[in-house]
Amino acid sequence: MNESVELSDITFAYIFVSMDLSYILNHLGEDREAYFNSVSPPVFESSNFAFASVAEMRKHLKDEMDYPFYTRGHNPTVAILRKKLAALEEMEECLVFGSGSAAVAAAVLSSVQQGDHIVSVKNPYSWTGKLMSRYLSRFGVTVTYVEGTDPLDFSTAMQPNTRLFYLESPNSFTFALQDIVAITDIARSKGITTILDNSFSSPLLQTSGKLGVDIVVHSGTKYLNGHSDVIAGVLCTDRKRAEHIFETEFMNIGAILSPHNAWLMLRGLRTLPIRLKQSAETTAYILSQLETHPRVEKIWYPHHPSHPQYELAQKQMKGSGGQFSISLRVEGPEEIDKFCDQLQYYLLACSWGGYESLVFPVAGLSGTANYKESPHPWNLIRFYVGLEEPEVLWKDLKQALDNI
Ligand SMILES: *Cc1c(COP(=O)(O)O)cnc(C)c1O
Repeated sequence: MNESVELSDITFAYIFVSMDLSYILNHLGEDREAYFNSVSPPVFESSNFAFASVAEMRKHLKDEMDYPFYTRGHNPTVAILRKKLAALEEMEECLVFGSGSAAVAAAVLSSVQQGDHIVSVKNPYSWTGKLMSRYLSRFGVTVTYVEGTDPLDFSTAMQPNTRLFYLESPNSFTFALQDIVAITDIARSKGITTILDNSFSSPLLQTSGKLGVDIVVHSGTKYLNGHSDVIAGVLCTDRKRAEHIFETEFMNIGAILSPHNAWLMLRGLRTLPIRLKQSAETTAYILSQLETHPRVEKIWYPHHPSHPQYELAQKQMKGSGGQFSISLRVEGPEEIDKFCDQLQYYLLACSWGGYESLVFPVAGLSGTANYKESPHPWNLIRFYVGLEEPEVLWKDLKQALDNI
């Protein structure tokens, strides 16, 4: 048993670039003969692994990142998921975490030391911003937030102690982009690490390995798991950085993904291409209907021709998925509340990437009294289009718009 588990662990290290998507999703990392030829892998629900000899034990302990010894470090079910995700991002290695925030924290913490400086795109995911501004300030790490739509924003904000450029492209509400290749080029010439939060696109719509990013992170909770039932985080990078992160943040903080949740995520991942496609197609249909509705002031979607960075979106992404925003032509926040409350099919909830359509108004972030203080336009409403019938979703949106 040990032999075959090891085999699956050492194969495929650097040959991922030529793999078909279906090969990655259906076969890569699976070692079916090791577990009674079951098509779906078992959940190795075990905290520790036992050895036939001290020599065997020693070998596994020496390389806990690659061999099962103790599940905080390595678990065979989790390992299958790690291989697939690394291959999807065209990166050498992947570590998975108990949440996207844990993956972000591990990536950021591994990239800075006391007294360092970070240049980050403005308004990153809320807990990412809190990590950099609030938590890391305790260790003398400072951060400058930049608009980020011009790569020069990053070089202009650079200081002698800048160690990290933090990107989130597209971002979560207005879907502003950063030119990833241009920014990673600047960073590389200065020895600065780049991190990209790629949760919006998933590796299928934006492949980080192709864009020069050092570390890519995901909230696996969103598209990758795709069923609104697991909180998970993903970090992909090169082998050397992965080893460093494994030995420090990963093992020390121990924010691991459980074998059971890794199994659920594997199951979700199998259908990622078809889910994304369905969601994107329905979104295109809904946007085409929304364009002419008098209540819609503006559409926010990277692959909509009205997006100010439409060309960049086409250059660095293969498409956009099911998240879009609209700003409504209304007088005040009460009408936003009314519109959202009238929707029947869209659940009023955060997150995205599951089977169910969602709506999240910026007005939900603030009270109705101080609604203009939000960093995003107050009349902006974010949607996620799930797997429901397109006509059903449009009909529901239309009645809510007509009845504001
Ligand atoms: C949700 C999200 C996160 C945080 O992920 P969790 O899995 O909720 O911890 C980070 N970045 C982005 C862009 C997100 O949407």
